[in-house]
Amino acid sequence: MIAQRLMAVREQIAQACVRASRDTDRVQLLAVSKTFGADAVQAAFDAGQRAFGENYIQEAVEKIGLLAHLRAQGLQWHCIGPIQSNKSRLVAEHFDWAHTVDRLKIAERLSAQRPPGMPALQVCIQVNVDDGANKSGVAPAEAAALVRAVAALKGLCVRGLMSLPEPSRDYAGQLDVHRRTRNLFDQIGAQRWPELSQWDTVSMGMSQDLDAAVAAGSTMVRVGTAVFGQRLVNP
Ligand SMILES: *Cc1c(COP(=O)(O)O)cnc(C)c1O
Repeated sequence: MIAQRLMAVREQIAQACVRASRDTDRVQLLAVSKTFGADAVQAAFDAGQRAFGENYIQEAVEKIGLLAHLRAQGLQWHCIGPIQSNKSRLVAEHFDWAHTVDRLKIAERLSAQRPPGMPALQVCIQVNVDDGANKSGVAPAEAAALVRAVAALKGLCVRGLMSLPEPSRDYAGQLDVHRRTRNLFDQIGAQRWPELSQWDTVSMGMSQDLDAAVAAGSTMVRVGTAVFGQRLVNP
């Protein structure tokens, strides 16, 4: 079941890339496994999926422990949920990526808490691109300064931007908001700051807006429902 769904999502990404005249290799699939067990992650791994996204840190840390043996085979964990100060250590110690860094204070904690023996934590700066109320993410006007400040911290490697816009059923609306994130990413990249040596990631697009996100220039789509099915629980 998961294997078939994964194939269908990969095909959808490939089709979206063809329509956008983009290279399929430039869009990575992050399988969002929140609320699903280690068995579901294992099934997706067996079907060739390597990158997994988790929102709830405690839940993720349990799964990461259960599947520790797969890490040497390339299994990667991406934190895509809010990072509270009191959870930053768990993120620094257990994850490969953090997509939701939106404050310097959290970045400084992740930097200080990243164990020296581990590779740098790969970081995206979350941008509140549609100005949603009560939402995480740095304001677009402040994103470049935050990117630069975070890029100077040891133990972290800033890769790009992440956005989580309000859901919209309308393709044109999805495209517009995703284009704003992509433009901001391009503007920051154009500064050619030497500390941004690997500025290559735009984390945007989910099950409902994947096509628009790919058309707008996403390089990493975060897909949960279309890979694992409907989520029944909300821990
Ligand atoms: C849950 C979640 C996703 C995946 O959402 P689906 O609609 O299930 O594809 C992607 N990104 C974030 C930040 C999420 O919380």
